[in-house]
Amino acid sequence: MRKRLIVSAAAGALSLLLTVPAAAADFKPGAAGAGDAYYPTYGNGGYRISHYDIRLKYQPATDELEGTTTILATATDNLSRFNLDFALDVQEVRVNGRPAAFAASGEQELEVTPARPLAKGAQATVVVRYKGVPSTVKKYGFTAWQRTPDGAVAAGEPESAWWWFPSNDHPSDKATFDVSVLVPDGNEVISNGVLAGKSSQAGWTRFSWRENKPQATYLATLAVGKFDVTTDTTPGGLPVYNAYSKDLGDNADAARASVERTGELVDWLSGYFGEYPFSSVGGYVPNTRTGFALETQTRVYYSPRQFAKGSNTSVVVHELAHQWYGDSVSLSGWSDIWLNEGFARYAQFLWSEHENEGTAQELADYVYASHPADDRFWTVKPGDPGPDNQFDGAVYDRGAVAVQALRNTVGDDAFFRILKGWPTERRYGNATIADFRAYAEKVSGKKLGDLLNTWLFTASKPALGPAPAGAPAKTSLAPGADAGRADGQSGGGVPVEPKSWKKIQETNSVHDEGH
Ligand SMILES: [Zn+2]
Repeated sequence: MRKRLIVSAAAGALSLLLTVPAAAADFKPGAAGAGDAYYPTYGNGGYRISHYDIRLKYQPATDELEGTTTILATATDNLSRFNLDFALDVQEVRVNGRPAAFAASGEQELEVTPARPLAKGAQATVVVRYKGVPSTVKKYGFTAWQRTPDGAVAAGEPESAWWWFPSNDHPSDKATFDVSVLVPDGNEVISNGVLAGKSSQAGWTRFSWRENKPQATYLATLAVGKFDVTTDTTPGGLPVYNAYSKDLGDNADAARASVERTGELVDWLSGYFGEYPFSSVGGYVPNTRTGFALETQTRVYYSPRQFAKGSNTSVVVHELAHQWYGDSVSLSGWSDIWLNEGFARYAQFLWSEHENEGTAQELADYVYASHPADDRFWTVKPGDPGPDNQFDGAVYDRGAVAVQALRNTVGDDAFFRILKGWPTERRYGNATIADFRAYAEKVSGKKLGDLLNTWLFTASKPALGPAPAGAPAKTSLAPGADAGRADGQSGGGVPVEPKSWKKIQETNSVHDEGH
C-alpha cells in the first residue's frame, strides 16, 4: 500500500512538470456531431483524424465482412469519451493499446471511453475490431452498401463509410487511407489511390490500396467482385486504373468508350484547374442498380445506367472536375455544396464548348430561359439549399449559371485565373463559399456580394440573365414565345436547346442514391 502511494505521488509530480494538470472535471465527452446544420449527428467533436488503416476480410458469397481499423487521431479537447460514426457490430476497441469501453448509440454513433482520458493535444491510436453483413444493416432506413451479383460496393454521399469502417464522418476532417482487403482468389478489390500490393495464399488474395493525399470519408470507396481491369499512364504521366464489372451486358462498351477517356480528360481539365492533385486516376463501373455516379477520390464510381443511352464523356468530365472541386478542395460544411456541384457542372459546360455542342454562355442562357419565374427550380438556393435539396438539379444548373455570371462580371482573364488559382490556393484543404468569394474578389478586384447573393442566395428568378460583358442581358419574359428559332436567338423566349444538353441532363441522377 505504501509503495503504491509513493509511486502515485511520484507520477503526479512528474506530470506536473510536463503539463499543466487538468482537473478530472475538465475532461468531458466529445460532441456526437461535427456541428453541421444539415446533418447534426454526422462527424464528431473533440478530435481530428490524420490516417485510417482499414484491414478487411470479405466473403462475396455471404456478404460477411470482418475488419480491424486503426485510426491515428489527435485530441482537440480534454476528452473523457469520444464518438465515432459506425454501423456494424463492434467486438473490441483499444485506445493507445488499452481496452476501451464502448457502446452503440443513436443511429450510427459509437461511444468510446478510453481507459485513460485524452488530454488536449494528445495523440491517440484507436483500434476497432468489428464484423457484420453490411447489406442487412439499415440506418435511417437504408444501407449505402450495395450488393452486386458477384460482390459489393460502398459508394454514397454523404453517407457510405458507416458500413465498412468507423470514422469521423464529415468532410471537414480529411485523412490519408490504407485499405487492405482479403478476398477469395479470382475477385478484384477496388479502392482509392494506388494499388500498392497484391498477394495470394491458401485461396485468398490480399489487395492493398493507398491514398496518400487527404481524403474525406465520403470519398473513400470499396468494391469487390469480378472485374476487367485496364491500366495505363496518361499522356501527362499519371497512372490510370479503370475497372469494369464482367457482367455489364449492353452497357459494357458504352461504359468503356466513356471511362477509357479518363486520362485524356484529366489532362484536358488540368488546363483549366491546374495540376491534377492526386497520384492516381481512374474510374470503375460495377454491376449496381443505382443511377448515380460519384467523385470517389482518384477512382470515380459510375452506375452502369450512366451509359444506358450510349457513351457519356460529360459525366466523366463532371466527376473528374470534382477531383479539384470537392476532393482536393473540400467543402467545410454540407451547405457549401455549390463549391462542388456548381463547378463540376460548369466543367461540363466547358466540355460542351470544346466539343462545339454549345458554349457555356448558350447553356447558361438556356437554363435561365427554360425555367419560368414560377418554376420551383428558382426556390432552391444553390448557396444554401438545405439538406432535402442538397442534390437538387438547381444546385447543379443554377449553380453553373452562377459561375457563368461570375465569368461575365470579372471578365475571362480574371475568371480563368480564379478557376485555376483556387484549387491551388486551397489544395488538400477545406473551404466555405465565403472563402471563395474573398478569393475571387482578391483576384478580380471586384466586389461580388451582390452577384453571389442574386445567383446563390435568393429564392427567386433573377430579373436579368447572365449576360456577357457588353451584351444586353436577357430579361425574364414569358418563355416559349419564339422557341426553336433556327438562329438560337430568342429575344426573351427559350433559346434553341444546345446539342450537349441531353447528355448533361443524363448526369442528373449523379447523386440520386434512391433513399
Ligand atoms: Zn457532382
